[in-house]
Order: sequence, then C-alpha cells, then structure tokens
Amino acid sequence: MGIFGSNVFNDAVMRERLPKASYKALKKTIDEGTALNPNVAEVVASAMKDWALEKGATHFTHWFQPMTGLTAEKHDAFISPTSDGKVIMEFSGKELIQGEPDASSFPSGGIRATFEARGYTAWDCTSPAFIKEDRNGNITLTIPTAFYSYTGESLDKKTPLLRSMEALSKQAVRLLGLFGNTTSTRVISTVGPEQEYFLIDKNFYEARMDLLLTGRTLFGASPSKGQEMEDHYFGSIKERISGFMKELNEELWKLGILAKTQHNEVAPAQFEIAPIFSTTNIATDHNQLVMDTLKKVANRHGLVCLLHEKPFAGVNGSGKHNNWSMSTNDGLNLLDPGSTPHDNAQFLTFLCAVIKAVDEYAELLRISAANPGNDHRLGANEAPPAIISIFLGDQLTDIVEQIQNGGATSSKTGGILKVGVTTLPEFSKDNTDRNRTSPFAFTGNKFEFRMVPSSASIACPNMVLNTIVAETISQIADKLEKAKDFNAELQDLLKEILTKHNRIIFNGNNYSDEWVEEAAKRGLPNIKSMVEALPHYISDKSVKVFEKHSVLSKEELHSRYEILLEQYCKVINIEAKTMIDMANRTIFPAVAKYAGDLAGAVLSIKSAVSGADTSAQEEVIKEISANLKSFKENTTALEKAVEGAAETEGYEAGVYYRDKVFSAMTNLRIYGDKLETMVDADVWPLPTYAEMLFLI
Ligand code: ADP
Ligand code: MG
Repeated sequence: MGIFGSNVFNDAVMRERLPKASYKALKKTIDEGTALNPNVAEVVASAMKDWALEKGATHFTHWFQPMTGLTAEKHDAFISPTSDGKVIMEFSGKELIQGEPDASSFPSGGIRATFEARGYTAWDCTSPAFIKEDRNGNITLTIPTAFYSYTGESLDKKTPLLRSMEALSKQAVRLLGLFGNTTSTRVISTVGPEQEYFLIDKNFYEARMDLLLTGRTLFGASPSKGQEMEDHYFGSIKERISGFMKELNEELWKLGILAKTQHNEVAPAQFEIAPIFSTTNIATDHNQLVMDTLKKVANRHGLVCLLHEKPFAGVNGSGKHNNWSMSTNDGLNLLDPGSTPHDNAQFLTFLCAVIKAVDEYAELLRISAANPGNDHRLGANEAPPAIISIFLGDQLTDIVEQIQNGGATSSKTGGILKVGVTTLPEFSKDNTDRNRTSPFAFTGNKFEFRMVPSSASIACPNMVLNTIVAETISQIADKLEKAKDFNAELQDLLKEILTKHNRIIFNGNNYSDEWVEEAAKRGLPNIKSMVEALPHYISDKSVKVFEKHSVLSKEELHSRYEILLEQYCKVINIEAKTMIDMANRTIFPAVAKYAGDLAGAVLSIKSAVSGADTSAQEEVIKEISANLKSFKENTTALEKAVEGAAETEGYEAGVYYRDKVFSAMTNLRIYGDKLETMVDADVWPLPTYAEMLFLI
C-alpha cells in the first residue's frame, strides 16, 4: 500500500537518505538507548530537512505532550536570511535536538515559578518524525520531543514514560538472564490501544453550549430508545460513517499508524478504532495523533467527534482498552504462555510479577485511569468498577491453583469447538473465554487494562504499569540471584506470590453488587472518585517506587498531584458555570415563554368560547410552573455552591467540587430534563438526545 507511512521519516527513509555510518549510529541510539552524537544529529537534521522540503514543508515544529493531556506545537519556518535580502531553507542539528518554548503557560504544578519561564524540548528519536498537512496546504515537519524545565524536571507525559520503559527493560533483562537468556538485550513494553468515540452531526453540536465548552451534555432527557435493543454494536456501518472512516484510515496510514479494526460500539453513534500494537512510546504518540485526526476528519464530514468519557447520560460512555505486554528485542513475547504454560517457568514468573504488581500498586493504576469524565463511568455498570482485579481465565487460574498447591503439572486446553453444522469448520477453542467486565484481563498473550479514559493520553497508565512491573520483577530477581537451587527457590517464590496475591484474581462478573462486597472482604481498594484516588500519587509507597526506578522524583510526583487536582476543580467549575448559563439564558426563558404562551392561549380560548374546558392546559401550566420553580431554586443553589468554592483550596477544593458543586449540578439536571419532556418539542431550545444519537 503506497500511502502507508508516506509522511513518516521512518527507518526505510533513514536508511535510504543517511550516510551508512550516521544511520548506524542513530539506529544504535533508537534500539539500544545509547547517547546520540551531535555530529550525527547534524547529518540527520540535514537529511530530514531535504526530505521535508521535497514533501512541500515550509515549517518545522517540536511536538510535545504537556500535562494538559493534549499535544503542543510551536511552528518555525525553515527560512534563514542571506546577505542579499533573500532566504535559504535551513535546519540545524541544534534545532532538531533542542527547542526552547516558553514554558510559563503550561501546567507545572508549582515546579517552576512563572518568572522562570524557560522550558526545553528534546528530540525523542525513538518516535519517528512525520509530516503534518492540513487542508489549507500547511505542511509541517513534526518532531516528537520530550518537554522539561530549566532545572530538568519533567513537564510532560513522555519523559516519565520513556524512563519507565528503561526501568522495565533493565529489570526484565536481568530476570531473563537468570533464566539463561543470553540473546535478549532489551525488553520493550508493547501497547495496542482501542479507542472509543462518538460522532454527532456538527449542527447539533454547535447548538449546544455544553458540548461546545465541556464535551458532554449537561442537560438532556433520555430518548425513548437508547441502546437497549443491542442493535448498534458491530452493526452495519452507515455510509456517512464509513465515508468518514475511509478518510480517517487514509490519514492515519499516511502517518504510519497501523489503523486496523473499526466497528460500531454499544451506544448509538458510538464507534471504535484499534491499531495494531507497537512500542509503548510510539503507541502513545500515535494515540494522540489518532485523537487529533478523529476530530479533524470528522469536521470535514460535517461531524464532530466526542472523545469525552460520558457525553450522554443513560447510554454507555467511551473508554480506551490499553492492551499491554512485554517483548524482547529478539521478538519473544514474555506474556505468551505457549501451549503448555504449566511448565513454562519463565512465562509464569513474568505473569506472577504482573499479578503482584497489580495487587500491590492497585491505587496507582486507579490514578492512572482517573480523570473527571471517568468518574461517570467506573462502577456504573458500563465500564469496570473502580475496584482493580485481574481476570486470568480458566486455564491460568487452574495453573495458579496448582502452583499454590505445590506445583503445576498440567494445562487445561480449550478443546475442539463443534457447532453441530457439518458445513461449518471445526476449530480449537481459545483457552480462555472473554470477560468484558474485568478491569485488567489476560487475553491470550497480553493484558487488557480496560479502565483508561477515552480522552486521556495513555502515557500515564503505561508509565505506571511499566514501573510497578519493573519493581516486582526486580524483587523477584533479587531473590533468585541469591538462590542456591534456582528451581527450588523459584517454585517457592511463585507459590508465595500467588498465595499472597491471589485475592486480586477474579474471573466473575465485575459489575455485580456481590463483587463489590466480596472485594471489600478481600481488602481490595474501591476508590470511587478521582479526588479520592489522587493522594495515593504522593504517598510514601508511590514516591518510593517511582524514585527507585528513576521514573518520577518526589517533586515531580507532587507537581503531577497538584496539576491533576487543579484540573479536576477547573473541569467541574467550567461545567457548573456552563450549566448555570444554559439554565438562566436558554432553558428558563424558553420554558417561561412557553408557559406564558400557553396561558395566553387559555385566555383567548376562554374569551372566544365561553365555557370551553381548558383544564388540561391549565394542568400543564401548573406542572411546568412548579418544575420551573424547582429548576430556578436549584440554579440558585448551584450558583451558591460555585461561589463557595472560592473559599476552599488544595485538596479541600477537590472534595468541595465533588461533594457540593457536582451534586448541585446533578440536582439541577433533574428539573431541566423534566422540563424538556413537558414543553412543545418545537420550542425546546436544545437538540435532543434522540436527534444527536440517531440523526447521523
Ligand atoms: P478486542 O476488541 O477483542 O479486545 P481488538 O483486536 O480490537 O481486540 O484489539 C486488540 C488490541 O491488542 C490490538 O490493538 C492489538 O494489536 C493489541 N495487541 C495484540 N497483541 C499485543 C501485544 N503483544 N502487546 C500489546 N498489544 C497487543
Ligand atoms: Mg478489547
């Protein structure tokens, strides 16, 4: 396919355009993490510039991922003046390697006072540079970079992710060595994120202040039909949508993104796209580009892509399924059980490391899935609960039990599946069934972390996963390194780990109330909101593990805690203010006018036809007026709640926004939605759920 990767300065382009020695040196940096020689950077910059100019580029940008969760870019033209008043196109090694954007307008969580505005971006050569083009003909060479402060602290999502990949590689290679592996020199965490999203018609979007400003509907009565017919998931894709998907795929393929799977999701107007997995760093960059491209392409089709976790109440929201595994640089997937997992000691050891990590650091994983939007989903029977547990499936659960009982001697197999129709092929069953309700499910040769928010960067979940697994692997390696009898020590160690941590394994229905009770008995944390989750980021345990593996320092963790807390408060504040505005300036006037018109109609009927029965209209007027009164009272209550927030700060502010402001919003919505069902459809000032969800 000609277009695939056509806008990427990828390995093939580098091999073709770089002198052999420079190519080799760069490749060594990319593959082995060695430092890059500045002379090589000079050569690469020159080749990159020529390539970009041939593609029509006029500008370049360092592309980075500040703590907003979005991406940032500052464009510079390649031009450089000559003495005769003309310009030449230039791009130096220094410009490739380092940028210096003003850092003062990005969240730093107190790491950097605003007057110390200096921030740097540094070229991340492990993620290939690419060309970004838009419909207006702007063509920009885009260089993935890490972003940090003058004092060297990370101000972005990429730096700790890269550090965590290093940490995991170091510990995993160490453990592999103990198993006699002498060929693998690096271990890479791999990720394939499945991205869910909604598409709605742009006209509806633009007519709703809530969608415009907050990405979700703050009012909206449930339509008569939602997702109960189960007719949307995997349904035949409408032509308008398949037209959008076609263009989306083409754009993504040009960027070298392995967009593969697409389908309708559970809720009406909801869809999913999944790429083929890649290295975590690249998968993370690509996921940012996928989100960006979804929005851009939707716009070209008169659509708007909603990435919010819960754009519509009453139907499923969106998430991301973060499929994660570990592979060696010589191609061995460390979470592949093989056909006889019971005697695959190496696999079982890595599996135990993951089980131990997820149990011991459940709070950190929970934080990595926390954002204000996800508070609406986790535990609401559409996404995993807020309780972290692991689904292992029949085969591995059986092996785990055998190990606990003294040693594993057999592996259950799936057997042959017969459907009773001779013309259909027989095939071997998978060794595990699926469990869609589990937050962390083993799916054959990888784990699927299903709590990740749809709009968030996947950097944090993977940074946490890599770090906590690096830690448990290091603990295992510490013990095994000292073992006199490796096999005996390993057997004991795995038994000990599984006996201690089997409480995290749960193969049943995670949506059930029984599980919530059972999990409490097992002592598993049930952290219901983002606000509750955040303090775990700065706990001693968290600082210890992140510092030990040089992923985040105490200061960096504190800054991240501050940023996330502040983001939570700001999001709820914006939502509350938007609600108040819509209540006062859109809904109240429309309903009051409708009730007034109805009252006028009653009067004119009475004066035109004496004795006419207008009790039905009067009943409606009474009901509307009563609800409008409650609506107004609750608007005032929300206004007061928002005002009161000014007196709170720090963690208290987070708690206040959740308990006082958010709950006042919930109360106001009840009356707004009730009023929607009472007034003339033609008079209601907002596009309805039925229109938004079904008219695409
Ligand atoms: P499902 O919806 O059944 O979970 P999909 O095919 O939609 O499955 O998504 C599975 C994702 O897992 C894909 O992105 C795939 O590339 C990814 N994946 C497969 N193997 C690995 C692996 N070893 N490491 C990380 N991700 C993987
Ligand atoms: Mg999945």
